[in-house]
Amino acid sequence: MRVMAQLAMVMNLDKCIGCHTCSVTCKQAWTNRSGVEYVWFNNVETRPGQGYPRTYEDQSRWQGGWELNRKGRLRLKAGGRLRKLLTIFSNPKLPNIRDYYEPWTYDYATLTDAPAQDDVPVARPRSLISGKETAITWSANWDDDLAGAPEHGPDDPLVAKLSEKVKFEFERTFMFYLPRICEHCLNPSCAASCPSGAIYKRTEDGIVLVDQDRCRGWRMCVTGCPYKKVYFNHRTGKAEKCTFCFPRVEVGLPTVCAETCVGRLRYIGLVLYDVDRVTEAACAPEQDLLRAQQELLLDPNDPDVVAAAERSGIPHDWIEAAQRSPVYHLINTYRVALPLHPEYRTMPMVFYIPPLSPVVDVVRDTGHDAEDHGNLFAAIDALRIPVEYLAELFTAGDPDPVNDVLRRMAAMRSYMRDINLGREPDENIPARVG
Ligand code: SF4
Ligand code: SF4
Repeated sequence: MRVMAQLAMVMNLDKCIGCHTCSVTCKQAWTNRSGVEYVWFNNVETRPGQGYPRTYEDQSRWQGGWELNRKGRLRLKAGGRLRKLLTIFSNPKLPNIRDYYEPWTYDYATLTDAPAQDDVPVARPRSLISGKETAITWSANWDDDLAGAPEHGPDDPLVAKLSEKVKFEFERTFMFYLPRICEHCLNPSCAASCPSGAIYKRTEDGIVLVDQDRCRGWRMCVTGCPYKKVYFNHRTGKAEKCTFCFPRVEVGLPTVCAETCVGRLRYIGLVLYDVDRVTEAACAPEQDLLRAQQELLLDPNDPDVVAAAERSGIPHDWIEAAQRSPVYHLINTYRVALPLHPEYRTMPMVFYIPPLSPVVDVVRDTGHDAEDHGNLFAAIDALRIPVEYLAELFTAGDPDPVNDVLRRMAAMRSYMRDINLGREPDENIPARVG
């Protein structure tokens, strides 16, 4: 077994408040330059929503990631020698500036001196594209404001007039935030689709980088990345992407997004994996992809893994760092962290603890937050966020692993709440969630 080390991240989505501090600090550090005004190496998108760039998950439109050919082998969706040759001159699958959004410059004087006002803006934002004024009908956070919620409180007569059905729907309205960076995939399709060999994965820690000297600006990587996390710098004519803040990581500092995260929701750590099994895992049938990816990561406390890692040349202090890291345990021991879109087959290394959100009280069918009514665990069967929606994001549509995670999270919340309130916790809970 050949073992390699990989930097990975876990984000706990229940803790993200959508403040965008991570995006802004990342931008200040990395893309505060001309040519990349539209670029957010770290973005925080509203879910449900179209994402950034919009509809990036519609792989029939963009042809990113991998697919299996008839023999069950991996094939680049944007690749194939002929397709590569044809598209190299007119790569047709690129998001345009409207898909990202049109950058704008703040009028800082107005921003700081504007008087307090009663009304929030209602007009759609407008932008100048090619000299024409165009309505922008979306942004990565446009859906924050689209829930259609009444401005009035529940006792308002206007709300009282709403039909029971509308109220029922309203009470179950949901949204949450999904922060995204490059996934630093174990099987990166950006690197595989680059005709110049400019994108590479560092052997020591798995960070995926673009060699600026070798990049010829073909932009096949933009097409080839299913997460759309490579960007084209219009000023330099080169591709750029998240670097996992390697100059900081190399001196023992966390990434800028993690260090400045207001919700403290990002966990960074080294994981160990069996490099010889990456392709096999990426070729697993869709229903087995999640398990294959989890099994690729090795238990850093297993003496056999430690011996294999040492034989593979991983320094001992790195192995110890992997042992101390919470990342492996969140993914495999506690089984609460899931990858984003494992069906893209790139083996992404950013994992998410899906949001439990406020749990609706279905036991009494009041529609209210169940947490204060005791027995949160019993209420978990009807979550505010449909499990099917989370499954589309994290498990290629399989609701069972998502349900398992949410039950564990609900059990933990219920257990800790009892302890914090000085109540006797239900000792059966750990056994019930496994
Ligand atoms: Fe490459 Fe990052 Fe896209 Fe993975 S997420 S394919 S590593 S740019
Ligand atoms: Fe979410 Fe943290 Fe980013 Fe704020 S800084 S948007 S809490 S990930």
